[in-house]
Amino acid sequence: MATISIIPPIMKYIRGFIFDVAKKHHGKNSFKSKSLTSFAKWLKMRFKEGRYPLVDQAEIAPIVGETDLRLIHSPADLPRATWIGHATMLVQYRGINFLTDPHLTDHPAPIDCLFPGRLTQPALQHAEMPKIDFIVISHNHYDHLDRRTVNMFGNSVIWYVPLGLKIWFEKQGIHSDKVVELDWWQSHQFSDEVCVTFTPSVHWSKRVPWDTNKSLWGSWSVRIAEFNSWFAGDTAYDEELFMEIGRRTGPYQLSFIPIGAYGPRYFMSSQHVDPARAVLIHKDIKAEKSIAIHWGTFQLTHEPFLEPPELLKEAMNFENLPQNRFVILKIGETLVLEKTETV
Ligand code: ZN
Ligand code: ZN
Repeated sequence: MATISIIPPIMKYIRGFIFDVAKKHHGKNSFKSKSLTSFAKWLKMRFKEGRYPLVDQAEIAPIVGETDLRLIHSPADLPRATWIGHATMLVQYRGINFLTDPHLTDHPAPIDCLFPGRLTQPALQHAEMPKIDFIVISHNHYDHLDRRTVNMFGNSVIWYVPLGLKIWFEKQGIHSDKVVELDWWQSHQFSDEVCVTFTPSVHWSKRVPWDTNKSLWGSWSVRIAEFNSWFAGDTAYDEELFMEIGRRTGPYQLSFIPIGAYGPRYFMSSQHVDPARAVLIHKDIKAEKSIAIHWGTFQLTHEPFLEPPELLKEAMNFENLPQNRFVILKIGETLVLEKTETV
């Protein structure tokens, strides 16, 4: 007699989706990650490496710029992007304003003492923001998904989230129809002019001890009319993968690529790129211009706090690329693209 499993329908009811083992990044009960790590290994590394190399505020001051509120609140006839801090970018074009991984509070962890507090303040507070249309979330790590910041925006925006993360948003009181949950390579038409596609990355997910890789991680490709942009989230390097992103959803006029949280390499290289590999991603995805993110805000790892932009300059020289193709903005600084070409 044929047996019909009732587990998938129950899991679909509880979790909102079922894993599809026909897809190579889906396991039976979690997503498959190449970033092999564990809390025990992290603790061992922390013990070996000792304290984080903090710097004093005077040395940090030069990386903080002036935020041009008048520009930010004026119509964006040319595409522009403002670095709010860490992985948070405000992107504006043709009446659309969107944010990447907004984090506007002081701590990047479930327990405030786990990491040092924020070393540079967000360039914009929530009340200073223009009306935000949508927000893309790369994954559920605390420096990218901050509950207190999510509650600031609540139901006033559309949230684009990785597969498996919608349920978390619903628990925060966000309405189901305000959350668009996508698997890799799935797209959603926000409006006639705006298409949002969830693209892969090499990373992992975890917020509590029992949810390792239960929700997906990834990067976001956002096209507004002829302006094509890409937000990397957190990622390690994989040439084949980024070439594929370049082929399928590139080329890009502007991308946002992490350059920090890479030390020590023996531990971090399977989950975060260093500046040299960030430049390889910039080339692989066919970005005309990139902005460095994921540095200068939280001390999450053991490289010196101000080292990432120095190594980025060296990597650009090594690749014979002009420095203005991979831009190091100050916190609060806005980059306005000079022209818009159909890509
Ligand atoms: Zn992460
Ligand atoms: Zn991160």
